[in-house]
Amino acid sequence: MSQPGIPASGGASTGLQAQNGAASASGSPYTNGPVQNALMSSQVSVSQGYNSQLPGSYPHLIPAKTLNPVSGQSNSGGSQTVSPLSNYQGPGQALYGPPVASHPVTPSLRSGPSPQMPLPTSQNPAATPMPSGSFLPGASVPSPSNWQYNYLSQTNHCPRVSSQSTMTGNTNLMSPQYVSSGDSSLQNNIIKSGITSNTNNGSMVVHNSYDEIEGGGFLATSQPTNKNPTMSRSVGYSYPSLPPGYQNTTPSTTGTGIPPSSLNYPSGPQAFTQTPLGANHLTASMSGLSLHPEGLRVINLLQERNMLPSTPLQPPVPNLHEDIQKLNCNPELFRCTLTSIPQTQALLNKAKLPLGLLLHPFKDLVQLPVVTSSTIVRCRSCRTYINPFVSFLDQRRWKCNLCYRVNDVPEEFMYNPLTRVYGEPHRRPEVQNATIEFMAPSEYMLRPPQPPVYLFVFDVSHNAVETGYLNSVCQSLLDNLDLLPGNTRTKIGFITFDSTIHFYSLQEGLSQPQMLIVSDIEDVFIPMPENLLVNLNESKELVQDLLKTLPQMFTKTLETQSALGPALQAAFKLMSPTGGRMSVFQTQLPTLGVGALKPREEPNQRSSAKEIHLTPSTDFYKKLALDCSGQQVAVDLFLLSGQYSDLASLGCISRYSAGSVYYYPSYHHQHNPVQVQKLQKELQRYLTRKIGFEAVMRIRCTKGLSIHTFHGNFFVRSTDLLSLPNVNPDAGYAVQMSVEESLTDTQLVSFQSALLYTSSKGERRIRVHTLCLPVVSTLNEVFLGADVQAISGLLANMAVDRSVTASLSDARDALVNAVIDSLSAYRSSALSNQQPGLMVPFSLRLFPLFVLALLKQKSFQTGTNARLDERIFAMCQVKNQPLVYLMLTTHPSLYRVDNLSDEGAISINDRTIPQPPILQLSVEKLSRDGAFLMDAGSVLMLWVGRNCGQNFLSQVLGVENYALIPQTMTDLPELDTPESARTIAFISWLREQRPFYPILYVIRDESPMKANFLQNMVEDRTESALSYYEFLLHIQQQVNK
Ligand SMILES: [Zn+2]
Repeated sequence: MSQPGIPASGGASTGLQAQNGAASASGSPYTNGPVQNALMSSQVSVSQGYNSQLPGSYPHLIPAKTLNPVSGQSNSGGSQTVSPLSNYQGPGQALYGPPVASHPVTPSLRSGPSPQMPLPTSQNPAATPMPSGSFLPGASVPSPSNWQYNYLSQTNHCPRVSSQSTMTGNTNLMSPQYVSSGDSSLQNNIIKSGITSNTNNGSMVVHNSYDEIEGGGFLATSQPTNKNPTMSRSVGYSYPSLPPGYQNTTPSTTGTGIPPSSLNYPSGPQAFTQTPLGANHLTASMSGLSLHPEGLRVINLLQERNMLPSTPLQPPVPNLHEDIQKLNCNPELFRCTLTSIPQTQALLNKAKLPLGLLLHPFKDLVQLPVVTSSTIVRCRSCRTYINPFVSFLDQRRWKCNLCYRVNDVPEEFMYNPLTRVYGEPHRRPEVQNATIEFMAPSEYMLRPPQPPVYLFVFDVSHNAVETGYLNSVCQSLLDNLDLLPGNTRTKIGFITFDSTIHFYSLQEGLSQPQMLIVSDIEDVFIPMPENLLVNLNESKELVQDLLKTLPQMFTKTLETQSALGPALQAAFKLMSPTGGRMSVFQTQLPTLGVGALKPREEPNQRSSAKEIHLTPSTDFYKKLALDCSGQQVAVDLFLLSGQYSDLASLGCISRYSAGSVYYYPSYHHQHNPVQVQKLQKELQRYLTRKIGFEAVMRIRCTKGLSIHTFHGNFFVRSTDLLSLPNVNPDAGYAVQMSVEESLTDTQLVSFQSALLYTSSKGERRIRVHTLCLPVVSTLNEVFLGADVQAISGLLANMAVDRSVTASLSDARDALVNAVIDSLSAYRSSALSNQQPGLMVPFSLRLFPLFVLALLKQKSFQTGTNARLDERIFAMCQVKNQPLVYLMLTTHPSLYRVDNLSDEGAISINDRTIPQPPILQLSVEKLSRDGAFLMDAGSVLMLWVGRNCGQNFLSQVLGVENYALIPQTMTDLPELDTPESARTIAFISWLREQRPFYPILYVIRDESPMKANFLQNMVEDRTESALSYYEFLLHIQQQVNK
């Protein structure tokens, strides 16, 4: 079993107080809790997150105790050069040509092909050519049925490398170019005059290049990084007693029996070491293994088939000393496919497991330390934010845990606002929290923070009016108008379209909204420069008027055409000056003007894995999305269509602009009431959830590691900077990595994501997460630390890319080969005695099951009636959802619910939530006398057996007998019985934990929905897919070849 001891889990609060003893003594404990005194409030506040909506958010309590990790071979004074390999965009992000230059400002998008091609594998000592047919890294030509974990040659795209000339940030760190004026009149001027490039010194090349402000990656400049490299060595030894002082509690000596002096630290400038930590860390490496005897088990899956835990699978805990692990980032926010990092690429290649990170960086947090300080302390070399895993050489100097540069501690940082003690830089919240948010000073702005701008674009064609969606959406907007994140500067606007485009003037003082129709869709223009996007506060009544009348305005329309493309162009023009969020509602295939599409789904192709249209049929939507990205506009697409609408093409508008796609197939206000309910619930979340504007994200990792492929909705701007015009708390990201330089001299590596954004209140903020992991030298340790959920999630992302760039069947083969390759590697290299059977390390005991589940997931399944748009949507979800939801969609949770009890129940806000055990996904686990709930993420299915007990029928479903269960039942009655209360509490709890609204279907044995239920029985055989046991036999055959 994995260890559930995640430091940030709910139970940590008591431990936290205990560890805060030292801080408490000084009168100002830092607990992540409410602000305790005036001093703190001026310096450190605790944010609930704006509009933290998700009740299930975990309390991010981080113990305040720290130890400083030993760093490896010093490289202070050196800066790291980014390998060209790390410059490539992900396969899904390759930009074929320049963005449409329709605006005067040149966005810092890469354009044109790069002269640089990927290094041939022969130039990379770590990359060994491998035979085809496996999943191996290093092969220079991808075989059709495998992909490489390390380099991008699996994509058919030609990788682009940004030209140095656009990477101003990487060469000009010391003089960031920005507009620092907070003068609101300036902002108004900008808005009113539509100036998009508000330079105040003329030196700024592009206004939307955030590269320089977030800070480049590893700098290639020759700035002196350590003025006196020999200094640190001599000084280091002179402070031997200091490091324990950097811990909040008495130094832990943990009786290792190893005198610090006996440890062999690498010589060099880093020779000053944190001795207690070093000893503890080594101890942890050894004792950690014995702590998890279960984890060392080797399992024969053919004999032990039921490896699914009955409680939710926990991520593995990195094998770190507990004092480090306590400070580590919560795995819900940041986790790695391998919690033990192989020290060389060769070792990683041997394991044949993908190395990558899965992130949920903007997740709603119950508690988040927020630091307001004029000095944000960052490494001068690589721009890493100071974090719990840096080491202090002494009070005045800290060593970066990513590039090993020794940095000065700024004077201001010497003072700890929490303890009000001078000379405690190591106790600052920045060094005590792996997740933290900074209020960014003006250097982090290229222009004054823009107001929140929300533009809604509605399809009002005949088809759209038929669905009746406008009623729902307008009502939702009316209900949530005051809850839109923002402030007094919030702006709002509306566009509707059919064969023409309609604008609405909402000028304050008008008696009613004015509609302006633009019928020239060939050359779209904005009919009036102002009053189409208006201040929500000032024009609220007009906005409400419009929302009330809009649903009726088009009820008589006969217009069937849809000029979506021109409408998007108009919306883009309207939003260009400020950026913001564009919410587009579309109900059919666009038929008119630019971006018009043709039906290309052929029913007989649905079941084939061969030639299906997964790629866009036009680059219009992608190009427009890149324009949007350049102007800080994100586009969210709500597709409500019963017909094929070519989501593969339409979805690009959201994907590259960092938006989201919502899909409601067969939405109809009368015929499909559960879809109406779903849309309303999800709109409420959508409209009120936290939002960040003008965002960029960069992920850094310890020197030697290299990030090379990104997954998610964004555009990769320069090098490795992800452009996110909007960031929302429900989006997940993944990256692939390789080991570029040997890590043999280091014991720990770190990963840091920094998300710079403008809050809806107009504050510039930076949210930083730092994850620390151990480096290992043996294959066994690599396998031991494998995180099977993260691996499966990353493989799913890779498989989507593969489906698009090659084919679906190719992606499926690659998934299967991923299992075969890694288990073969384990068998041949890590397993000491060769036994018959399918032997797997405990950590990977669910790997074959999860991959089989992926093969049966809507994205990758064959032989079904999955419609093309539904498949594309599933793929969008794989790319954009946080891991937890992706796993639920892939491998649903099955519970028996006709006998729920309070045994093991949890209590939340006086509610008792039953926790029934999770069952294997096989009909063997069903019985006709029971009722079973399947939680498949976006849908809940309650199957009621024919002989289900009378008690459940009457006390929960409220019916006398089985025959009386309605054919369509999507709601449970609230009955005054304990059984009803338990069932409803359980279902509500499942729903509350996610940002989307799963519909509940009650399914009788003879209901047509039963097929959907059985479809998710991953372990069972279907007409086109193997059973789990058959799959295991197949894997075993291949592994034992
Ligand atoms: Zn650094």
